[in-house]
Amino acid sequence: MSSVFALADCNNFYVSCERVFNPKLTGKHVVVLSNNDGCVIARSNEAKAIGIGMGSPLFKIQDVIKAHGVHVYSSNYALYGDMSRRVIEVLTQFTPDVEIYSIDEAFLDLAGFNRINLTDYGRSIRSKVMQWTGIPVSVGIAETKTLCKIATRIAKKSRKTDGVLDLTNSPHRDYALSITAVEDVWGVGRGYSQFLKSIGINDALQLRDASESTIKKKMGITGLRILNELRGFSCYPLEQLPPPKKEINVSRSFKNTIEDRSDVMEAVAAYASRGGEKLRAAHLEANILAVFLMTNPFNEESRYFNLSAEKSPSERWGMKGVVV
Ligand SMILES: [Mg+2]
Repeated sequence: MSSVFALADCNNFYVSCERVFNPKLTGKHVVVLSNNDGCVIARSNEAKAIGIGMGSPLFKIQDVIKAHGVHVYSSNYALYGDMSRRVIEVLTQFTPDVEIYSIDEAFLDLAGFNRINLTDYGRSIRSKVMQWTGIPVSVGIAETKTLCKIATRIAKKSRKTDGVLDLTNSPHRDYALSITAVEDVWGVGRGYSQFLKSIGINDALQLRDASESTIKKKMGITGLRILNELRGFSCYPLEQLPPPKKEINVSRSFKNTIEDRSDVMEAVAAYASRGGEKLRAAHLEANILAVFLMTNPFNEESRYFNLSAEKSPSERWGMKGVVV
C-alpha cells in the first residue's frame, strides 16, 4: 500500500497564539520578537505585507513600526509551548500516528485512509484545530513528507486552496512542483541549491526529473532520497520518538549592550542553569559545557566572537554537551 502523510503547519504560530488571547489583534500588523527583543521571529500576514522580513533586527524597523502602528510582542515560550501541546492533542484525534516535527508543525501518517476524501479530512483537521484551540493551520497531503512540505507551503499562500492541498493523485502536482523554488525543497539547503541552479535546475519539478547520476555525484544518498521523495516514493517514515539531542544550546541576544562584568556573569549563570534543566528533562548527560560570548554583530568596528562561528561545539569536539 502506498504511503500517505499530512503535514499540519500552524500559520504564523507565535502571532496566532498572541491573537487567541487578544482577539483585537486579528487583522492587525503584529510581530513577535526573539528573546530579549533582539529581532523579529514571527509576523502576521499584514506585517509580512508591509515588508517586515523574518529575522529583522528591531532597531532597523523602528520607522516601519511607527508608520504602520505595528503591535510588537516579546516572545512568551511558555504560552507557545502550551498552545502547541493543545494543537497536537487535537491532531491525535485524527490518527494516533503523529510526529511532532517542531513547535508548530506535525506530520500525520494517513496510510490506509484511502477510502475517505483526503481533502475533506484535511478540512476537518483544520476546522477542529481552529474550533478547539483558535490556531489556524494549513494542511498539505501527499505520499511523501517532502511533497507534504510543498503542498503545505502552497496551501498557506494560495487562497484557492483555502488552507488544504491534497497532492495525491492530483492533476495539479506538476504545477505545484514547478512553482516551488529548488531552495525551498525540504533538505536542499543553500549549498546544494547553488549547485543545482548552476546546472539549470531551478524548481522542484526540474529537480524531480533530473538525472539520478548527476544528483548522486554531488549530493550523494541525500540527493537520491530527495529525488525519490519528489517522485512519490517515501524515504522518510514517521518518527514518533525524536532522536536524543546531541547538543543543548541556550543563547540570547541582549536588548541593550551589556558592559558590566557582573551582568554578564549573572546572564551566564542563568543560562547555564536553564541548560541544566533542559538536560535533566531529557535524561541526558553532558561531556562538555562551553560558554560563548559575542559582541553586537551589527557593530562592524568592534566585532568579537570567542568560538569559531562555522562549527558548533559538538562538531568541534565530537561530543554532546551543553552550550550556554
Ligand atoms: Mg508554521
